[in-house]
Amino acid sequence: MGSTVDNTVIVTGASRGQGAAEARLLVDQGASVVLADVLDDAGEALAAELGDNALYVHLDVTSEPDWARTVELAESRFGPVRALVNNAGVSHRVGLMDIDLGDWNRVLDVNLTGPLLGMRACVPSMRRAGGGSIVNVSSIAGLTAYSASAYSASKWALRGLTKVGALELGPAGIRVNSVHPGLIETPMLGDAPSAMLDAFASITPLGRGGRAEEVAALVAFLCSDGSSYINGAEIAVDGGFTAAGQMQGVLGAIERTTGGPATLRVPQREES
Ligand code: NAD
Repeated sequence: MGSTVDNTVIVTGASRGQGAAEARLLVDQGASVVLADVLDDAGEALAAELGDNALYVHLDVTSEPDWARTVELAESRFGPVRALVNNAGVSHRVGLMDIDLGDWNRVLDVNLTGPLLGMRACVPSMRRAGGGSIVNVSSIAGLTAYSASAYSASKWALRGLTKVGALELGPAGIRVNSVHPGLIETPMLGDAPSAMLDAFASITPLGRGGRAEEVAALVAFLCSDGSSYINGAEIAVDGGFTAAGQMQGVLGAIERTTGGPATLRVPQREES
């Protein structure tokens, strides 16, 4: 198997957005995909469209019984699970002084405990398959500070859990990596203020938000044997947002204060 996937893959949060793009690409590449979500109508419609190599299963990622049932259905329909994409997540953009504790717990449950339960449910099946790949969908909010306290904390913790997985599961031939999308145009951003979206795009070196398909390409590669020596890595798919760090902000501030071009060059003395 090269850089395509021809085995059983579970994708959580697959009814829409990035998860739907990932399921679609994986089926295209020859995988048998279990689409797992709580949005049943959309998930069932997508699985029907993708054909015999797709199965929709209702899964709340915070429920251990749901996970056991999902793995059982995946195995009985397609065989042992070779890859798991922990993609399901919820956004909540509230700072640390204002966040309600119930919301804090809900975000951590879905974004962090969900992937933990998924890994624990799928690893026995991966061992039976002789190895596997787990892709945890974190965020640039797991690489930098982000004004969304629970969300950012959950995504940093997921990045840490990924490293633990790489260490503990590597000896069984199970690779665990995290991907860190930047701003991606999906329903998750439906309630985001347009000023926020414009600001993100303007300080992203590629000058735009990303598409779900651009994340799916990376996820499918990490599920495949083409990435057989990649374990414990954190890979940004963010148009250069995190690489640029604060530099785009510095250049913008220079432009605003000088009214001139954004440059760090020392002005050359005029030759007389
Ligand atoms: P989305 O809201 O379109 O999709 C998220 C999916 O997760 C939905 O289908 C939803 O029903 C599902 N989900 C939510 N709670 C669930 C639960 N308890 N059990 C099962 N499924 C559940 O968002 P998206 O942009 O496609 O997000 C995919 C992942 O990418 C998330 O983990 C998100 O945090 C992350 N991410 C998104 C962005 C972005 O800008 N869109 C940026 C960085 C990271």
